[in-house]
Amino acid sequence: MLELLKETVFNANLELVKHGLVIFTWGNVSAVDRDSNLIVIKPSGVSYDDMKPEHMVVVDLEGNVVEGDLKPSSDTATHIELYKAFPNIGGVVHTHSTYATSWAQAGLDIPNIGTTHADYFSDAIPCTRDMTKQEVEGEYEKETGTVIIERFSDINPDYVPGVLVKNHGPFSWGKNAHDAVHNAVVMEQVAKMAFIAYSVNPGLTMNEHLIKKHFYRKHGPNAYYGQ
Ligand SMILES: [Zn+2]
Repeated sequence: MLELLKETVFNANLELVKHGLVIFTWGNVSAVDRDSNLIVIKPSGVSYDDMKPEHMVVVDLEGNVVEGDLKPSSDTATHIELYKAFPNIGGVVHTHSTYATSWAQAGLDIPNIGTTHADYFSDAIPCTRDMTKQEVEGEYEKETGTVIIERFSDINPDYVPGVLVKNHGPFSWGKNAHDAVHNAVVMEQVAKMAFIAYSVNPGLTMNEHLIKKHFYRKHGPNAYYGQ
């Protein structure tokens, strides 16, 4: 079942390692098949060295395992909430990559202060609010999805394909698993760049028309960048 998507999700998980975004088993990638409404996700706690495509777990939008011998990633419920709320996304990534996680721990949005950021994100990469005691002690992973969705009530997830979960780390998404990994790599890089930029000049300024230009030449109806 969904053998091609398992191969894709497996490879996308290995890409996280290749790009230095994960150590040990921290991190997970999933993809959704919108025709069957089934999600393929990394198994929980399996090392990247031992992982094979057939280890990928198929779950439905209620979180039931449809196929697979291993338990799905413990973050599966968060992925599910994102697929339900953001209809255009096809892949989701979660990591604890160093710089993006540091901004999440600081509780700050990553401001859009340069064209590298603006090529991928129209605005700041937002940070979520504190989760309540009930949310954390209840259906924690599902509620993590809920606070992300709440943060995007006035943000277009297609134009800002990532978020920082406060005191936790980044989630990113894209039209497929590969695209979501790409956005996770970009997020980590712009988090690092913003950290350095503010270190050398805490009073730096942004140039809003330059930021807009860079985003909209690659995205939206009037995009003209690329072949
Ligand atoms: Zn995590």
